[in-house]
Amino acid sequence: MATNICLVGIGKIAVDQHVPAINGSDDWTLAATVSRSGTVEGIQSFTDFDTMLAERQDIPVISLCLPPVPRFAYAAKAVAAGRHVMLEKPPGATLAEVHALEAMAAEAGVSLFATWHSRAAKAVQPAKAWLADKTVTKAHITWKEDVRKWHPGQDWVFEPGGMGVFDPGINALSIITEILPFEMRLKAATLTYPSNRDTPIAADLTWADNVTAEFDWRQTGPQSWDIRVETDAGVLEVKDGGTVMLVDGETQDTGDLGEYPHLYKQMKSLVDRGISDVDLRPMVQVSDAFTLGKRVVTDPFEF
Ligand code: NAP
Repeated sequence: MATNICLVGIGKIAVDQHVPAINGSDDWTLAATVSRSGTVEGIQSFTDFDTMLAERQDIPVISLCLPPVPRFAYAAKAVAAGRHVMLEKPPGATLAEVHALEAMAAEAGVSLFATWHSRAAKAVQPAKAWLADKTVTKAHITWKEDVRKWHPGQDWVFEPGGMGVFDPGINALSIITEILPFEMRLKAATLTYPSNRDTPIAADLTWADNVTAEFDWRQTGPQSWDIRVETDAGVLEVKDGGTVMLVDGETQDTGDLGEYPHLYKQMKSLVDRGISDVDLRPMVQVSDAFTLGKRVVTDPFEF
């Protein structure tokens, strides 16, 4: 039988990915939405979260698609109301608030899922399996996209807590922290800030063990979401945001489930098993980049 779920924050990602993934699954029924302005046709919509929690006791699972800064307050209320919670990435504005949520969920006996949609991409688990018995000699991430295309008018990405270019960069970090057969340790970072903004628009990162990354939000034309890993037994490439895998230039077989259908399948499994999944390693790397980062100032940015 399908489980009722409520989507909160009906913005770009809710409309583009969450609604189709829920509607395409036999596991879930989209039973309500909460948003100040967004709605989903044919679904009961609330503008106030407390009212939804009080009136729809028949909805046991809440999926939060808000930006990271307002998310904690919603997640804390949902957990306190005994609901299971799915968090869009990044799972919070700070590490401490996600640790707090994890403890609250354990205390309340509900499942908390800190999702990483790129980690659910179809080449990620095959890439991890391929790398498991290799010696990695070098790895490089190229994550370059156009912020105007992917975050049109979303000023929150340039406000404190919005993470700037780490909003997409954390997707790369969610993949590489999953596939590398060792833990990453950041050594240096250069963060480039528009002179009129509070978060970086580009970043260059260097970890121990010859791992590096270039993140840039000013890319027009072809977009790059690629990771290249050199090993003692060949070169692995995970391309197009984790959807394509090549070994020594040869395309490899991958899974076939899309990112968001995969995430909702995982959420069903977590709820059924009564457990949580909160892996903060991608966010630790971002936090370390802000801690170590050398600040460079560039031209002002407007959408
Ligand atoms: P968005 O279009 O700005 O939508 C977020 C929604 O959250 C808004 O429509 C807004 O709905 C609500 N919201 C915003 N600020 C709020 C506040 N202070 N209090 C309460 N509600 C608020 O953003 P998005 O692109 O969907 O991104 C949301 C999350 O998904 C982010 O964490 C992002 O990293 C992640 N994500 C985005 C993409 C992408 O391509 N854009 C891809 C994957 C993941 P109302 O104003 O109607 O309440």
